Amino acid sequence: MTRLNLFLMCGFLAAGSAAVPAADLDGLQRFRDIYKELVETNTTLSVGDCTLAAKRMAARLKTAGYPDEDVRVFVPEGHPKEGGLLAVLHGSNPKAKAVLMLAHVDVVEAKREDWSRDPFTLIEEGGYFYARGTSDMKAQAAIWVDNLIRYREAGYQPKRTIKLALTCGEETSGALNGAEWLTQHMRDAIDAELALTEGVDGSLDAQGKRVALGILAAEKTSQNYVFEATNPGGHSSRPVADNAIYHLVRAVDRVSRYEFPVQLNDANRGYFAGMAPLVGGENGAAMAAVVRNPNDAAAAAVLDKEPNWHAMLRTTCVATMMTAGHATNALPQRARANINCRIFPGVSREEILAQLTKIAADPAVRVSIPEVRGPVGQPAPLTALVMRPIETIAHDMWPGVPVVPALEPGASDAQFLNPAGIPTYGITGIFTEADGGGIHGLNERVLIKSVYEGRTFLYRLVKMYADQ
Ligand SMILES: [Zn+2]
Repeated sequence: MTRLNLFLMCGFLAAGSAAVPAADLDGLQRFRDIYKELVETNTTLSVGDCTLAAKRMAARLKTAGYPDEDVRVFVPEGHPKEGGLLAVLHGSNPKAKAVLMLAHVDVVEAKREDWSRDPFTLIEEGGYFYARGTSDMKAQAAIWVDNLIRYREAGYQPKRTIKLALTCGEETSGALNGAEWLTQHMRDAIDAELALTEGVDGSLDAQGKRVALGILAAEKTSQNYVFEATNPGGHSSRPVADNAIYHLVRAVDRVSRYEFPVQLNDANRGYFAGMAPLVGGENGAAMAAVVRNPNDAAAAAVLDKEPNWHAMLRTTCVATMMTAGHATNALPQRARANINCRIFPGVSREEILAQLTKIAADPAVRVSIPEVRGPVGQPAPLTALVMRPIETIAHDMWPGVPVVPALEPGASDAQFLNPAGIPTYGITGIFTEADGGGIHGLNERVLIKSVYEGRTFLYRLVKMYADQ
């Protein structure tokens, strides 16, 4: 997914503390080794092997004393390299539902020739870890494995069972998604009171100060739509007005000029309300105004200048691909565009299909849904049971830094778990910079200090949930 920093734009002055909490040195070298091993196991869809990564993590857990029956590598049939890992630390109360630590271990493709460093070697430089997956999301995956090892080593017995699921296929649309597969084939193995996964990082401002700790409370559904015009065609020396390309580009142009209405839910309302005082100025005032009145067009117009805020306020649809024609000297018989929509939580794919058909406004352009990925679910509620442990630990580690919910314009595996009845929250405790750190792009990086702090935060957080 596109991991979100609450401030994807720079230049805001920070509230909050710059104090550095003491790093949790317990087993730090071993954690680093786990992280390195995961990062250096190529898990791209093209040439990588998630099953190998899962096996390597399984070996680490077994070395730490986990019995074979509590550590299972699963491999979906017909997908030998897209396997994952399930592991469990049993709780003392069999009636209490589990806490699930979920992470995808697959990564976005990365070409050595494009990067200035080898994308599959963990490199420490200038206070950063560099490599594909350092941020999205092998740091958290390594933290989950490390947590299980440390809990066992400490002789810790939680009330709730703590489960781990490492999966493959999150990053590639159309690939087998391990989290979805688990909800369909091994639902009991991942059943939990709540699940934690990637989502929103902590936010640093341009000066490196902590501004807010994010928690992903809702996410949009990604859905492709196809616009297609077909035509008998003919020789290009005798053009006619009825041209498939012209029909298509006019319809696509109408999409470019359409804006979906502003919608508010707990997540984006919480985000804009929480961020308004931190951001301040015209933007802060616009945030407060839009929370008061989602129909305040002037306030929305201010926020719309920032693509991330624009996307958090509504469904968005954008043209991403186009193919048309079959010969340079022939009238096109077919013209096709892909429109990628990010649908606001709770809105159905069919509603958007109907709206796009209306926007296309041309019977010659057929609008359809090419493929469906996962069910559309309601976001998990932000109850006190969920929020209190986060706020308690955040307050302890980063006094004065508020916890701010967010609506993620991208999508994570929460899109599969929430509809399956496993409330899933995105929190990393890893503070990142407003530029996004090269996630999905070149020279992906994450602050070393932030990874180590995130490790401490997530170690404590899972424990606190498990003791509830
Ligand atoms: Zn991710």
